[in-house]
Amino acid sequence: MIPFELTEPNKFDVSDAEKFSEYSVRINYCQKTEVYSKDGFRFYGCISVVHQDKEIVLNVFKHATEHDLAVLESYITKIQNGFWNSFPWESKTGSNGVQFDQVTLGSKGDAITLEIYPCTEKHCVSFGKHHLIEPMEYEFGPIHSADFQIGEKYRLTVFKPHHEEWLIDVSVGGPLTATEAASFNSDLAWLTAEVKKMNGVS
Ligand SMILES: [Zn+2]
Repeated sequence: MIPFELTEPNKFDVSDAEKFSEYSVRINYCQKTEVYSKDGFRFYGCISVVHQDKEIVLNVFKHATEHDLAVLESYITKIQNGFWNSFPWESKTGSNGVQFDQVTLGSKGDAITLEIYPCTEKHCVSFGKHHLIEPMEYEFGPIHSADFQIGEKYRLTVFKPHHEEWLIDVSVGGPLTATEAASFNSDLAWLTAEVKKMNGVS
């Protein structure tokens, strides 16, 4: 990609871009393509527009940050608002024969903010989306969360350090009545069974 500048669209560009309101936007977390630097720029993603499928695919490179994603999303808004001709598009044909237009995007300067870590943990509330982690923690991965919180005086949370199994965190906010303790007991028993299943233990 060459550096480019956005120039204000004319009315024809804007009316042509109305078609994009019918295009879906999908984020694809690249597993192989990593962020790279070249000629003073840091490249962290590319946008592919598949006209025949009416789809805009935002490919986020591995190790891209939250800020990078926000910039990429702002470019999609620009495309939808008529700036199509500002971008140095390349016409490509996929291995399946589908044609698409693509532009690789980056900025000057170093990475800022947290890194994006795509979540592939099916029980996690972020499954199919992503976590944000410190760049230094990439090899450890994120803490996944399964969002179980029960009871007025107690809280049971299910979470999973990336390379470990699902765990239960218990916090009790003060003394429980016998009734509350019984309820806590049965919730914990139920949750224990769920977590065993999540860990593939029956
Ligand atoms: Zn997760």
